[in-house]
Amino acid sequence: MSLTPRQAGTPSEIMEENRRALRGKPVRVPCAGCTACCRAGLPINLSPEEAARLPNVRGPFGPMLRKRGRVCEMFDEARELCSIYATRPVACREFDCRLQWLLGTRVTDNGSGAEINPVLAAWRTHARTDLDRGIIAVAWIEGRRYLRQLGDIGLSAIFAAQIVLRTKPSTLERLGREYAAQAREVERVLNGEAALP
Ligand code: SF4
Ligand code: SF4
Repeated sequence: MSLTPRQAGTPSEIMEENRRALRGKPVRVPCAGCTACCRAGLPINLSPEEAARLPNVRGPFGPMLRKRGRVCEMFDEARELCSIYATRPVACREFDCRLQWLLGTRVTDNGSGAEINPVLAAWRTHARTDLDRGIIAVAWIEGRRYLRQLGDIGLSAIFAAQIVLRTKPSTLERLGREYAAQAREVERVLNGEAALP
């Protein structure tokens, strides 16, 4: 299944949203009616306070929301929305599939999260600034290398996301400038305007 391409925002906007999540603010993803992550069998870990008020099962890292098959038990299938949206767990408030997309995270089989793959494939972005270019460079080169080394999903994706989110904006900007300059130089060499350095 392929979805119509849609704008994810710039890399800086995605990064800023996810930095807000680190400070306890819900991320604002332009989901436009998509509910794939509620139906994807993803583990939703709960805090002790959340576990006390929500139906849960024991997972490898503590209590997790219960599911019907792959669908979260809190998902209202008739109305196609979260039945506890205002009080949904922090794990749901923090989830931004655009970060997974930026890092190249994909579920290749029918495992947890596979329903999100078409959503990821539909995101589009554009770089406006050196910061945008630096974020893409770090996400693609550092984050993706990390994911390739450690496997594509789960905890490794979280750690890869942290590599990007914890890199200082000033470092990302510098990297963005360097990569943009290198790309221009490669273009000049390929166009026969300059010799190989
Ligand atoms: S998969 Fe992405 S776009 Fe779809 S509901 Fe989840 S966060 Fe929103
Ligand atoms: S609690 Fe709500 S937002 Fe979170 S996975 Fe379940 S249905 Fe989706």
